[in-house]
Amino acid sequence: MTVTDTSAYETLRSKLREAAVFASVTSVLSWDQETYMPAGGGEARAEQMAAMAGLVHERKTASELADLIAQAADEVGSDDVAAVNVARMQRDFDRETKLPSKLVANIARTSSIAQDAWKAARASNDFAAFKPHLEKMLELTRQKAECWGTPDDGELYDALLDEYEPNARATEIEAVFGPLGNQLSELVAELMDAPNPPSLEPFKRPVAISAQAELGRHVLSAFGFDLNTGRLDVTAHPFCQDVGPGDTRLTTRYTEAGVGDALFSTMHEGGHGLYEQNLPKAERFGEPLGQSISLGIHESQSRFWENIVGRSAEFWRWLTPTVKDLFGDGYAHTTADELYRAANVVERSYIRVESDEATYNLHVMLRFELERALVSGELSVADLPGAWNERFERLLGVPVPDDARGCLQDVHWSFGLIGYFPTYTLGNLYAAQFTEAMEAELGQLGPRIERGEFGPIREWLTDNIYSQGRRYEAGELCERITGKALSDEPLMRYLRGKLRPVYGL
Ligand code: ZN
Repeated sequence: MTVTDTSAYETLRSKLREAAVFASVTSVLSWDQETYMPAGGGEARAEQMAAMAGLVHERKTASELADLIAQAADEVGSDDVAAVNVARMQRDFDRETKLPSKLVANIARTSSIAQDAWKAARASNDFAAFKPHLEKMLELTRQKAECWGTPDDGELYDALLDEYEPNARATEIEAVFGPLGNQLSELVAELMDAPNPPSLEPFKRPVAISAQAELGRHVLSAFGFDLNTGRLDVTAHPFCQDVGPGDTRLTTRYTEAGVGDALFSTMHEGGHGLYEQNLPKAERFGEPLGQSISLGIHESQSRFWENIVGRSAEFWRWLTPTVKDLFGDGYAHTTADELYRAANVVERSYIRVESDEATYNLHVMLRFELERALVSGELSVADLPGAWNERFERLLGVPVPDDARGCLQDVHWSFGLIGYFPTYTLGNLYAAQFTEAMEAELGQLGPRIERGEFGPIREWLTDNIYSQGRRYEAGELCERITGKALSDEPLMRYLRGKLRPVYGL
C-alpha cells in the first residue's frame, strides 16, 4: 500500500481521532459523575452529557466520512491490516448513521437522570420510584434497536447485543448458556453437600482501608498496570473508565469489615485496565485497530486476572507474605491455604457482583432471559420484580428478600445497557479457553504466578489479544488462539478441577 499524509485513509484516521477526543471528554464527565460530582450537579451534568453526545454523534456521522471510507477502501486495497481497519470503520459508520441525533441526545439526557433515580431507588428499596425511568429507558432502547434493525436470522434483541458483542445472536448464546447452566447448577448442588466447605472468615477480619488500598496497588503494579497512566478511585459500583492514551481509570470499593470485596474488584477492574493500557492507542486512538474487540473479550481479561490468576493457590502463596506485612497481627497465623480456600467459597447469594465464580453465571443467565423478554415485549417493566424473584429462586434456590437485592441491584438498565449482561458470561468462557491455549504454549501458569512473574503472562495476552485491537472479531480470535469455537468445556473443566478439591470432593 502506498498512502501519503493527504490520502483519504490518513484523513479518515485523523477525523476519527478528532471524534475520539470529543468522546473522551464525555468519558471524563461520566467518570466524574460516578466519583466526585456533588449530588446537586445531576441536572446540569445531564445537559452536558447530552450536548457532548450530540457533538460526538455529529463527528462520527459527518457525510464526508462516507466518501472518505469509500476512497480509503480503494487506496488500501490488498493491505490486510489497513483493509480490516477500514472495514470496521464502515461498520461503525453504518451503525452510527442509523441513529438520529435527537434520539442519541434524548438517550444521553434520560439515562443521566435515570441513573440518579436508580441510585435513590436502590438505596430506599423503592422499585416504584425507578419504574417510570426504566420504562422510558426501555422504550428509547427499543427505538435504538429498531433503527439498527433486526438481523435477518435474528430478533430485535440481537440488534442491541451487536453493540457489545458484534454479530452475536441470542439463540447462539442461549445454546451455550443452556448446557452451561445445567452443569453449573449440578456443580453448585454438589458443592453445597460437600464434606469440607471452605470458610470465608479470613476475608471477614477488620482491616484498615489504607492497608487494603496499599495491597490493591501492590497487586495492580505486579500485574503490570501502570499507575502513571492510570488511577484507582472509590465508587459504590466499581468500574474501569478508559479516557484516552495515557489515561485509564479504575475504581473499587472498600469496607473495613474485610478485604475480599475490594481486592477482587481491584483485580477485576485491573484486568480491564491492562487491556486498555496495552491497546496500540497512542498511534491509533479512535481507530478500530486501537480499540478492544467486544465486551465479552474485555470481560475475559478482567475475569482472567481476577479469578484464574487471583483465586489460584499459587497466587495466594505469592501474596500471603505481603498480606501479613500489611495487615499485621490479625493475619499472623493465617496460611496461604486458608486464604486460597476463602477466595473460592461458593454461596447461593443475591448480589451478582459479590457472587462467586460458579454461581455468577447463573445470575447473568437470569438477566439475559429477563431483558430479552423485556425487549420482545413478553415481559412488562411492572412485572419485572415478580419475574425476577420467581426465576431467581428457581435458578439459585433461595428467595429474594427485597428489590434492592433483586431487580434494583444493577446500574446497567438505568444506562439503557440492554444486551450487555451476557457478555459477562461470554468473558468467563473465553478466559478459560484462552488460558488452556496459553498454558499449551507457556506451560502451567501456577509456578510463574507463585514467583510473582506476571510479565510473560501479560506479554502473551498483549501479543495475542491486546495489541491486535479489533483486527479479529471475537469468534475469529477464539478460533485463532485456541483452534476451536467457543465452548462450555474449558470453563467447566476449570471450575470442577479447582472447586471440587477445595470442597474435599
Ligand atoms: Zn468487568
